[in-house]
Amino acid sequence: MICAWMETSSAEIGSSQTMKSGLTASARDLYTAPKHPYTEALLSAVPIPDPTVKRQRIRLQGDVPSPIRPPSGCRFHTRCPIRVLPLCATEVPPLEEKSDGHWAACHLRD
Ligand code: SF4
Repeated sequence: MICAWMETSSAEIGSSQTMKSGLTASARDLYTAPKHPYTEALLSAVPIPDPTVKRQRIRLQGDVPSPIRPPSGCRFHTRCPIRVLPLCATEVPPLEEKSDGHWAACHLRD
């Protein structure tokens, strides 16, 4: 359930929409094919309990935006490693079902 929350939270960050029931992804889908760059960054920080396995960490740059004055467009655009300007800075990405039962808000991800 935590996994589903993470992806829902990512979608929420991208769209600034309130969490709704049904905005979930299966744990397998979330881990194997995250649909939002923020989710990817979160998952890249999860430790692997095997010292021989290395994971490429995604380190987000910049400061966390103020919740009082959130950025325009996609709320994640100031820290997103794959953003496309000006679209991401001006247009709020719609919350979409990217695959069966897997919802996310991102202009670039299908
Ligand atoms: S690519 Fe654009 S829309 Fe998608 S998460 Fe990054 S800033 Fe947001």
